[in-house]
Amino acid sequence: MLEQDQKPLVNPLNRYPKPPFVKQPQEVPGLASKMDPVPDHGEKSYKGSGRLLGRKALITGGDSGIGRAAAIAYAREGADVVINYLPQEQSDADEVLALIEEAGRKGFGIPGDITTEEFCKSLVEQAAEKLGGIDILVNNAGHQQAVDSLLDISAEDFDTTMKTNVYAPFWITKAALPILPEGAVIIATSSVQAYDPSENLFDYAQTKAANVAFVKSLAKQLGPKGIRVNGVAPGPVWTPLQTSGGQPQDAIVNFGEVTPLGRPGQPAELASIYVQLADSDASYATGQIYGAAGGNGHP
Ligand code: NAD
Ligand code: MG
Repeated sequence: MLEQDQKPLVNPLNRYPKPPFVKQPQEVPGLASKMDPVPDHGEKSYKGSGRLLGRKALITGGDSGIGRAAAIAYAREGADVVINYLPQEQSDADEVLALIEEAGRKGFGIPGDITTEEFCKSLVEQAAEKLGGIDILVNNAGHQQAVDSLLDISAEDFDTTMKTNVYAPFWITKAALPILPEGAVIIATSSVQAYDPSENLFDYAQTKAANVAFVKSLAKQLGPKGIRVNGVAPGPVWTPLQTSGGQPQDAIVNFGEVTPLGRPGQPAELASIYVQLADSDASYATGQIYGAAGGNGHP
């Protein structure tokens, strides 16, 4: 093989920024464009090879972070993509939609709050209309606020976390199921928090454990219908979820330091996992949770 044909070996240790990071509080849900350093979602690096040609994907939380990395990768693999996000995130979403168009695919943004069943239903209806169906559903949007004591979590806070992370995937999946064809896939974004919960993420960790049970149960229910259901369990990833209250600002300074790689993951480093799980080549993978945590945590 010619030297120019070789892909350079990449040392994961020094591929991306390491702690210390500067404190950088933002209001929820936060913008990727305001982070320092700005996360890498694969904008310049992800190269597709037709793995999802003609597929139709709906990704919640597709404006930023892990969902944006999946959206860029899906488009470059040949899929048309609808992203959902909150109206405050339109500027992040516009960047993603431009990249989807640049990849030669159709990209649509449907802003709206997924904490009501009514909106979840209409999101699925609108997405299916724009794409001419849906065959990849990525339930990725999430809400995370660190709180030291259970005594300081109001019922309203608890409700927001549950509605966003547990009810919305239920409502969206319920609305999508009647139109998902055989061969379709559902992908959940869980977390290492499902397996090794932090003391200050009491409510969030419970929702991420629920996401694992969602995958394991639904895979059994939908296997006989030819629909695969899998999940991803990331460790610390550099996204606005974390800097807008997902961690206390003190913990942002050394975010990811405790992992064997000594740094947080970047969303781009997870994109190929979402592609792999969506690709029909992975036809025997269902009911699985794929860890991506830099060496710590389960599974
Ligand atoms: P992110 O902030 O980039 O993405 C989360 C998205 O959720 C937001 O962009 C927003 O569009 C969406 N969202 C939140 N509340 C919403 C609502 N009410 N209505 C509609 N959309 C809403 O952060 P991320 O880290 O990429 O998060 C994506 C997923 O990854 C989440 O499920 C999160 O729990 C999970 N996760 C993240 C990490 C990490 O370290 N970043 C680790 C494990 C799991
Ligand atoms: Mg966002």
